[in-house]
This record gives sequence, structure tokens and C-alpha cells, in this order.
Amino acid sequence: MNDDTITIPMQERKRIALVAHDHKKRDLLHWARFNKERLSKHELWATGTTGRLLASELDLYIHRLQSGPLGGDQQLGAKIAAGEIDILIFFWDPLEPMPHDPDVRALLRLAGVWNIPVATNRSSADFLFSSPLMDTTYPREVPDYEAYRQRKVG
Ligand code: PGA
Repeated sequence: MNDDTITIPMQERKRIALVAHDHKKRDLLHWARFNKERLSKHELWATGTTGRLLASELDLYIHRLQSGPLGGDQQLGAKIAAGEIDILIFFWDPLEPMPHDPDVRALLRLAGVWNIPVATNRSSADFLFSSPLMDTTYPREVPDYEAYRQRKVG
């Protein structure tokens, strides 16, 4: 570990956020059905509509937030900043402008700020889920933002 990083441990049971834009929901549902067994070992969170569809598809409990355009992406971003989400599976649509594009960018940005693994499509989700790290604890390294918090301004 570097001096200028801190480690935030991820448990074996991960807190996974799932989000899909409308044209990508079918993809996410297929992927989730195929990975149901593995998903069932983790705690699942989702934006509203994605969560409703996943819950009926998988028959698993999903913690549901607001629909994405109504604030759900921001709720997930806040949970990442609070250290309450370990992994983001976000099938965003690269061909469709969204009314909540700033929220989409913000969610992806916070995943970067906090070094959360992100899968943005089926193949990246496959690679992420086939990692042995899914079943173990993992020392997630995050920059030590203390100097940033204490910076002098003005
Ligand atoms: P939804 O939101 O799951 O409520 O459709 C997804 C999004 O657009 O962020």
C-alpha cells in the first residue's frame, strides 16, 4: 500500500449496484438470469425500474432506490461516496442522449473517485463476475483524500 492511499476492505458478500438504461434492460436481465446463482450470494441494490424488473426476473430481494432520472443515480452515487456500494454494474446506453446525462456522468465519476469496479456492458460484467475476487475479501485502495480535505483555499 502507498503512503498516500488508504485501504477499504470489501467483504466476500459484496454490495452490488445494478442499473440499466431502457434499451439495455433486456441485456441486463439476460445477464442477471445467467448469473442468478452468483448474484444471490451478494446484497443487491438497483435504481427503481431496473430493480423492479430484476426482482421479478430473479425472484431475489433487491433494494430499490428512485428511478434513475428521478434521482436514483444520485442516490447510488451518494452510497458509493459513503462506502456503501462495492461494485457498479451499469449498462448505460451509448446511443441515446438521456435527460439525466449529468447524473450518469456523476455516478461514473464517483465510481472512479472511490475506485469501485464498474462493468458497463455484458462482456465487462462477465469478466468482472468470473474474477475469483468476487468470492473473497479484497483490499480496495483509495487515495487518501485527507490532504484534499485540508487544502488551503482563498
Ligand atoms: P431505472 O433508471 O432503473 O429507474 O430505469 C435507470 C437509469 O436511467 O439510470
